[in-house]
Amino acid sequence: MNNEYVNFEIKRLGGAAVLGLAIGYLTGYWLLSFLIVALGYIGWMLYKLYEIQQWLIHDYKPSKMPDSNGLWEHITTLIHKTEKKSQARKKKQFELMLRFNKVMSALPNAAILMNGDNDIQWSNKAARKLLGVNNKTDKGQRIDNLVRIPALTKLLRQGSEKKIQFQSPINENITVVASVLPVQKGLFLLTARDISQRIQLYETRKAFIANASHELRTPLTVLTGYLELFEGDEELPEHFLPAVKQSRKQTNRMQQIINDMLTLSRLEATEEQQVSNKIVEFPTLVLNLASAIKDTLAQDSHIIHTDIDEHLKIRGKEKDLLSIISNLVENAVKYTPDGTEITISWKRKKSGHACLQVEDNGLGIPQQDLVHLTERFYRVDKGRSRDKGGTGLGLAIVKHALLNHGGYLSIKSNPGRTRFKACFPPERTV
Ligand code: ADP
Repeated sequence: MNNEYVNFEIKRLGGAAVLGLAIGYLTGYWLLSFLIVALGYIGWMLYKLYEIQQWLIHDYKPSKMPDSNGLWEHITTLIHKTEKKSQARKKKQFELMLRFNKVMSALPNAAILMNGDNDIQWSNKAARKLLGVNNKTDKGQRIDNLVRIPALTKLLRQGSEKKIQFQSPINENITVVASVLPVQKGLFLLTARDISQRIQLYETRKAFIANASHELRTPLTVLTGYLELFEGDEELPEHFLPAVKQSRKQTNRMQQIINDMLTLSRLEATEEQQVSNKIVEFPTLVLNLASAIKDTLAQDSHIIHTDIDEHLKIRGKEKDLLSIISNLVENAVKYTPDGTEITISWKRKKSGHACLQVEDNGLGIPQQDLVHLTERFYRVDKGRSRDKGGTGLGLAIVKHALLNHGGYLSIKSNPGRTRFKACFPPERTV
């Protein structure tokens, strides 16, 4: 054992033994002398231990370090060094925490840390502004007692990472979007962002489109009326006729675009709970539309099959449901070549959803276009869409009408097989 402090201690023990020997030699009481010296040595050791204990309990400063040498000096120095290191680490951690707190507090988004029971552990400044949660006074309180929003309570109960939108409980002019993220076991982070400006912009844009469409409607009706008059007038010079016909076609198209824009504005302004609960004979709507298309748009060009559950009805708004069916079926005819087979089915799925499926064996839609199809004015082939009288708003209308009914649209396409599926939630089915 190459340890100078241990060697020193062994030497000290040796010294004590020599002292015992010397006293024994002088007094003749060998055993008693050894015992007294051994007891003295142990007593001294206990005293050193006591000094270290007191130092650790009270002062713990280098200047107050117990005065000793050998192994004891080394032990106290080691304790002191370890303590210094741990203090430096603590200081660093504290500074880091302060910095983290400052950054989190400066964030414009509200952040609230909660434990598994939804008790608030920590919150930043924005949480006070957006949700009325105060880091100083509300610590330890349940978040759902402070922020009484049913959607938030549901989200916390379900533990899903879904985003929800609601009015701020302390300022109804503020709309926030919030989500709850798991941080670690038993620790969750609720974040909320102010989206009032975005919503305002969106509302302004929506109002502008609706107003502009309304304003354009009347002059267009007048124009179309005059053009119809000219077209039927026998005195109209013959060379004017193609121009008048073309103008009338274009005004009709503009009217169609305006009608679709107004429909879309109306659908966007409707909340899900506002949608009618009237029972609609959905199977009859599909069968009637399929038969009408067979006799008109698809006559001599497409083969249409139907597979309809005639007992499956829907609660909703008939006009919008018809618009979903007609847009999907008409698209399947408009954007596929002659000879294409189209299958329209209306069935209940295992999940309880009622789905209208329109499938065709046309050329298909490129994968990169699929996600954009429900965007306004998005067309895969602009020329073909215009030739066919498309406005580019059909699928956006379908998507919004479905959303208003609590449903969804799914689109799948491969060369030779395209499938549009419009599904309604079980609670809307009859
Ligand atoms: P439009 O009013 O132009 O028909 P939609 O929103 O209804 O607009 O459709 C968007 C685009 O999706 C269409 O322009 C077309 O290119 C494509 N599309 C829709 N349905 C089909 C289909 N069954 N097969 C191929 N392409 C389709």
